[in-house]
Amino acid sequence: MRFDIMTLFPALVDTVLSESIIGRARNAGIIDIHAHNIRDYSKDKHRRVDDTPYGGGKGMLMSPVPIYDCYLDVIDPEKNPCERRRVLYMSPQGAVLTQAKAKEFSENYDNIIILCGHYEGVDQRIIDEIVDEEISIGDYVLTGGEIPACIVVDAVSRLLPGVLSDAECFEKESFSDETLLEYPQYTRPYDFRGRTVPDVLLSGHHANIEKWRAEKALEKTKAARPDLIERRNEISKERD
Ligand code: SAM
Repeated sequence: MRFDIMTLFPALVDTVLSESIIGRARNAGIIDIHAHNIRDYSKDKHRRVDDTPYGGGKGMLMSPVPIYDCYLDVIDPEKNPCERRRVLYMSPQGAVLTQAKAKEFSENYDNIIILCGHYEGVDQRIIDEIVDEEISIGDYVLTGGEIPACIVVDAVSRLLPGVLSDAECFEKESFSDETLLEYPQYTRPYDFRGRTVPDVLLSGHHANIEKWRAEKALEKTKAARPDLIERRNEISKERD
């Protein structure tokens, strides 16, 4: 999978996406991440990429021109032979990223191109011209799309074969069935400040352990995310 991130701060995304599991996947050639500096495509003598909004208003808006030139370079078939591509704009106005969406990206595309906005965002015409989908990471506003872009790359990459060592790692995780959080987990020491590990986990009885985990996952989801339980009930009604 190839990711192309169009940003004014390529060092920011490169740093975040060079560490740990994602860094290893990059080194192993499972994912290929290119951070492109939109400023390199500015034709302004001061390398400006933003301007004041038409109609007035606070702040600066990113011009569509350098973004479009950057995009043309990213999709140049001489440099990027990928064909199944999706262009995303990270935006608080987009649909909120879900595990299902990350899975869809991981399964259906070989090139995810991500546009990161900054300042007051980007000129609407670049969205209309090149963007397939606007994606938000939550109902709050950040200063730029770089951290959201890293979140998309992380969520999608870890679903790709070979990125995690054992497929089991994500099969039973929170949201793996879209409506359930993961059960509580424990490791050594057995006793931590008087809090001991639940006995069932030491029993070696796999059926009981699975049953306990299923109950705890449901309990945790009910307490923390009742909206997911509602969704779960709706899905089971639709299936009946
Ligand atoms: N004026 C914009 C609005 O009201 O929708 C907000 C612009 S925000 C200050 C600057 C950039 O940060 C956006 O263009 C977007 O790329 C990114 N951003 C901010 N919050 C985000 C979120 N929740 N999810 C994804 N990207 C976000």
